[in-house]
Amino acid sequence: HQKTLPVGRFAPSPTGWLHFGSIVTALASYCLARSAGGSWLVRMEDLDRARLVAGADSVILYQLEALGLLWDGPIRYQSRCLPLYQAALERLQRQNRIYPCGCSRTQITAESHETGVDGPIYSGRCRQPEQRRRTRDSAWRLRVAPLAVRFRDGLQGEQRQQLAREVGDFIIRRRDGQFAYQLATPVDDADQGVTQVVRGGDLLGSTARQIYLLKLLGQPQPAYVHLPLALHADGRKISKSAADCPCLPARPSPQQAAAVLRAALAFLGQNLPPQFPPQASPAQIITWACQSFDLRRVDPQPRCAVPDGCEFN
Ligand code: GLU
Repeated sequence: HQKTLPVGRFAPSPTGWLHFGSIVTALASYCLARSAGGSWLVRMEDLDRARLVAGADSVILYQLEALGLLWDGPIRYQSRCLPLYQAALERLQRQNRIYPCGCSRTQITAESHETGVDGPIYSGRCRQPEQRRRTRDSAWRLRVAPLAVRFRDGLQGEQRQQLAREVGDFIIRRRDGQFAYQLATPVDDADQGVTQVVRGGDLLGSTARQIYLLKLLGQPQPAYVHLPLALHADGRKISKSAADCPCLPARPSPQQAAAVLRAALAFLGQNLPPQFPPQASPAQIITWACQSFDLRRVDPQPRCAVPDGCEFN
């Protein structure tokens, strides 16, 4: 009897270099996959062309290598997988699950009666063909059923979301033709055979939508682990865009990489033993981390992380 090995992934948007939060995510997903003998993929979520930073993808890859986080197989770029998302959209279309929507942001806000996890909940106006706003370019929305999506997060515990009440019919392709994150990410996870999704806690509220889509597309559901968010001292989320917390230079030295790894491990509750050599290389730290990583030691709450190791703060 053969147990299938986990497939983990790290899916950064190349909108900036790695920051402390994304290093924590990369490290935790790497350790969880590798400690079980599984594989680890890297995927560039580069669909949002307006937010891309030229060259950020190569910097991210260079930084991952310097950290000793070595991936399997080729890097997937979402911008090269558009036919895959189109096929998913067409499948949902054949199921009569999606409808074109010509409403503008202003109209949606004006006609909305409730605020959901992502802002105003769409009224559902364009569901009815006779009420539909017909515009030259329409978005595609998924009609959600009035039921609760439940799942157990490996760190945050039992989760439950009423999609209709808390999210509403959501966009899977935007008016400008761009496929939405909510569609592309689960479609890729399924296509790449990802079995464990480890990512920042800011995406916990997206997970029910992605599970719902996977079900409609007849795909298996991966396991989910949402990590504590690393915050600035003033409570703001550390963001990737802008030079918010570039705690690692584009070409880190082994010492810089090792310092950030130690800080990220400490944030995750995985403290190196006191006798661990202070001059240890990133590769040595990663080897230890993969052997010792224990999810039960991770505090699930968001908290301040002004990482000591961050000379570039
Ligand atoms: N690309 C997303 C981000 O960088 C993460 C997507 C995911 O892990 O599901 O925030």
